[in-house]
Amino acid sequence: MSIWYVEEETPGYRLHWKVKKVLYEQQTKYQRLQVLELEDYGRALILDSAIQITEKDEFIYNEMISHIPLLTHPSPKRVLIIGGGDGGAAREVLKHKEVEEVHLVEIDRDVIDAVCKFFPESASVFDNPRLKLFIQDGLEFIKSQKEEYDVIIVDSSDPIGPAVQLFEYQFYSDCFKALKPEGVLNVQSGSPFYNKDVMKRVRNLLRSLFKYVNPYLACIPTYPSGLWSFTMASNAYQYLTADLSRANGLNTRYFTSDLFHACFVLPGFINDFLNAV
Ligand code: SAM
Repeated sequence: MSIWYVEEETPGYRLHWKVKKVLYEQQTKYQRLQVLELEDYGRALILDSAIQITEKDEFIYNEMISHIPLLTHPSPKRVLIIGGGDGGAAREVLKHKEVEEVHLVEIDRDVIDAVCKFFPESASVFDNPRLKLFIQDGLEFIKSQKEEYDVIIVDSSDPIGPAVQLFEYQFYSDCFKALKPEGVLNVQSGSPFYNKDVMKRVRNLLRSLFKYVNPYLACIPTYPSGLWSFTMASNAYQYLTADLSRANGLNTRYFTSDLFHACFVLPGFINDFLNAV
């Protein structure tokens, strides 16, 4: 008899993955954590019934959430990642030689422990001397930071459980203060198909704080609808003026210099709902 992991996005839309083995299950202080071995996608980290990463396609999300803001900023030395306990975004950020220090703030130590045990390749990033790990609520951490960071990446889970307030105005305003005046903020902003209200709200909240706000897209097979959005904001820089010579040698599988500009071109239906009053 085969076992299937099922994610129900709406009453009419479910995603199914065939499970080879259940490797780990735990109720942490913050969320339900599972690690499964999937037949087609390798190992998967699941929080509160939502796949966070699979071995097969995590590179797409992590390259796209990291390289776009890191290349938009001309000299990213100090980088903060809020969430990101799977280590993938930190791995990509650390490919940039200019980056001197990465602070990663993950609320749930059990996520880090599970990653270290079941995703040893991702976990190696936690030994990098340029990375400092804080086990803390990102909402609290950010409040005490003033003009500290060149780039902040919000690599959070979707707005459920401990991540709900990471999609609110107060948190973005705290990120604004934690950035240097020329800093760049980048956040994951959900599926344009299934979370269009989230995507629009994030864009509007960031517009009330920053001069340049640009949503962009990536195709990620694991996530509902396969189409995912990120929203980047800054008062100083936008992608149009980025110097892409630093993209050479990043050793990426999805991201390319051509894609850097292409990913900001939004399909009509997305522009329509973003611009609707
Ligand atoms: N790629 C993923 C996705 O969108 O599905 C997100 C990756 S990462 C695993 C998300 C992390 O954010 C989780 O490990 C979760 O524990 C962490 N997180 C959620 N709320 C947080 C908070 N308030 N402060 C810090 N980390 C938080």
